[in-house]
Amino acid sequence: MYLDHNATSPPTPAVIARVTELMSTAWGNPSAIHREGVRARQVLEDARPQVARLGGARPSQLVFTSGATEANVTALSHLARDARRLVTVATEHPSVLKPLEAMAADGEIALTIIGVDHDGRCDLEALERALMDADGLALMAANNETGVVADLEAVARLVEMTGVSWHCDAVQAVGRFPVDMNRGPWRAVTTLTFSGHKIGGPMGVGALLTSGDTTVTPLLRGGGQQGRRRAGTPAVAAIGGFAVAAQTALASDWSSVARRRDRLESSLLDTFPGSIVHGAGAPRLPNTSSIAIRADSGWADGEDLVLALAETGVAVSTGAACASGEARPSHVLLAMGADAVQAQATLRFSLGTETGDDDIDQVLGALDTVVRGPQSQPL
Ligand code: PLP
Repeated sequence: MYLDHNATSPPTPAVIARVTELMSTAWGNPSAIHREGVRARQVLEDARPQVARLGGARPSQLVFTSGATEANVTALSHLARDARRLVTVATEHPSVLKPLEAMAADGEIALTIIGVDHDGRCDLEALERALMDADGLALMAANNETGVVADLEAVARLVEMTGVSWHCDAVQAVGRFPVDMNRGPWRAVTTLTFSGHKIGGPMGVGALLTSGDTTVTPLLRGGGQQGRRRAGTPAVAAIGGFAVAAQTALASDWSSVARRRDRLESSLLDTFPGSIVHGAGAPRLPNTSSIAIRADSGWADGEDLVLALAETGVAVSTGAACASGEARPSHVLLAMGADAVQAQATLRFSLGTETGDDDIDQVLGALDTVVRGPQSQPL
């Protein structure tokens, strides 16, 4: 059973069918003027409005990329051309934090990193002070590890008050709650990014949306593809699949997911008293639960649990997928005040819309067995 949707969401049969079909029907180079090229170009032209709609943008505001990492780095490099004093938050995804830290280390920008409280909420007073003296902000919509959703209204007010440019990584937000660059706090966003494989599309495609009047400087220079905004032949079949996933994501219903996630958490807290749900006091995505597991003998080892659960057919994660395989505790949990042992004891469960009550029962039973041994009573 798969409870790692924040790492990657499985492609739907419709996405697989579309990518498979396009591999044999639209394999031409979309820049070519022959029939094969025109066919491939048409796929891109059809996909562009469908993917843009996921962020409430017009097709002209969208640049296809190789994923959210490239989209984030493109947006940040663009931001740093004009904005030399940048602000970000300690719990951002590494694809935002690492490039910013590298630019700061090279002396290209001055970087202020704002802390978060115990529940992963950004310190808004510190943010306001920092923005008074800055030109750019990188602040994500929802955190991939804890699911904590930023106070977008408050951030948008500060952005509007100070006139800074705002890059928003919306990878975990799109398709989970409405994202619309024409409405509410999203109107304050200058650049917004998301990824194909987090919404049930293929890996290796992502989107960079720009606000109406922003022209992003290309990160990749070379050919004149995508109106000279991103060089390189676009991944036509994958983008076609991305468009199918985007349409499904727009129509998806997360209303019962939070109830299942909450049941998972309350059962785990009953079974393993002293466990900690990270970010429980903040607004969160409906599907995400990040829990430090406390066994009778003390804090569990998250990596051991993930491996033992995998043996039983249950897929969860220790933190960010990108951090798996690294022994270091999650920077997100440390920023929230967890100690290294609690961070290492943490499992991230991320549900999909298809996760059922029986799946939750199965995970609870599997976890009880792997923590307490096969003699434990079924939950
Ligand atoms: N931003 C966030 C919040 C993510 O969760 C991820 C993926 O883990 C990324 C960016 C990077 O996305 P991609 O795998 O498309 O490069």
